[in-house]
Amino acid sequence: MSEEKKQGFDTLAIHSGAEPDPTTGARVTPIYQTSSFVFDDADHAASLFGLQAFGNIYTRITNPTTSVLEQRVAALEGGTAALAVASGHAAQQLVFHTMMAPGDEFIAAKQLYGGSINQFNHSFKQFGWNVKWADTTDIDSIKAEVTEKTKAIFVESLANPGGRITDIEAISAVAKEAGLPLIVDNTMATPALFQPIKHGADIVIHSLTKFMGGHGNSMGGVIVDAGTFDWSATDKYPLLSQPCPSYQGMVLHEVFGGMAFAIACRVLGLRDLGAAISPFNAFLILTGIETLPLRMQKHSENALAVAQYLQAHPKVTWVNYAGLESDSHHGMLQKYCPKGAGAVFTFGVKGGYEAGEKIVSGVKLFSHLANIGDTRSLIIHPASTTHRQLTDEQRAAAGASSDVVRLSVGIEDSADLISDLEQALAAV
Ligand SMILES: *Cc1c(COP(=O)(O)O)cnc(C)c1O
Repeated sequence: MSEEKKQGFDTLAIHSGAEPDPTTGARVTPIYQTSSFVFDDADHAASLFGLQAFGNIYTRITNPTTSVLEQRVAALEGGTAALAVASGHAAQQLVFHTMMAPGDEFIAAKQLYGGSINQFNHSFKQFGWNVKWADTTDIDSIKAEVTEKTKAIFVESLANPGGRITDIEAISAVAKEAGLPLIVDNTMATPALFQPIKHGADIVIHSLTKFMGGHGNSMGGVIVDAGTFDWSATDKYPLLSQPCPSYQGMVLHEVFGGMAFAIACRVLGLRDLGAAISPFNAFLILTGIETLPLRMQKHSENALAVAQYLQAHPKVTWVNYAGLESDSHHGMLQKYCPKGAGAVFTFGVKGGYEAGEKIVSGVKLFSHLANIGDTRSLIIHPASTTHRQLTDEQRAAAGASSDVVRLSVGIEDSADLISDLEQALAAV
């Protein structure tokens, strides 16, 4: 690991966590498509079950293909350990399950992926976990929501769908002052463009389904532990700081130190809630990550070209893309994401809701669907789809008002993408 730390990001994206297979010599990490693993002997079995040794028992909890993916993402984000799971939403559920008890609260940015807003508002309520929404562009509004019951602050680094850049350092300062862990969803930026841990995040999560896998072919999620948060400073996080009844009274933070959060998410949350990733998906996502730096660069170049084209179009009222020099977030981009602003941005079209629907129906090369982070270019009208369940006010706060069209610009030729939008806009 210490040798790997010195390698550059592009090298880590290809090599970190992987070795040629010791038995067959296979150069690419094999798909260990097995649900369970034979123990060496009875003592080995007992030590695995007692958490005295690391190893494989059952694919719900660990799998060798998935372990390579976990080590790779931990290295790319600069964390101590990671846990890969079935989806981004499963990652979010496990993170909160490890921190929260019924009646607890957490603070989340209003500027979030629509699915996360639903998960937090509705399903989390059923666990007795209460979300308090704050505007991340107004740091005092975050501070104002901190109570004795608050357990964490949750933000996106680049906020979906608006593509806005969050001031992670300012929010980290609020979290530190309040003694709370800062959780950053880094799905849209990926560590190729932005590394939240360097700016004060304690936990990073991803939907691996998006740019990390990058090809629109598999679901996955990951939790990365920065190892920076002191879970034992208060008695607020008993799963980490108190004796654990299902592991003979072991105190996870005491035994596992800077990896305790990732381990707790695995040996309590994943063990009992069960949202394991398939080894096949872990393999496809690992393969995708090898080209992550190249893809994010091309995504960002193409998105900038398309944004510049749209900005000059008479039927377009505004474009929100931090890569544009005129954009209000351009300064923040230079501070946090100097390599590029990523693939996803929104624009407003004259004619509101109807015009938005016309564009998504008129495109031919762009695919009209609910995803981001594919090699292919994608388009959606959030107000009639992903953000449909929200009130007008929530939609506006999330950057998804009725005239908004969202693009996830792929890595095709930008000239082809521009001509496709041109013919679709001509029909509006
Ligand atoms: C897609 C997405 C999620 C949810 O991930 P799934 O893999 O779809 O469960 C969470 N956050 C962001 C920013 C996303 O884009």
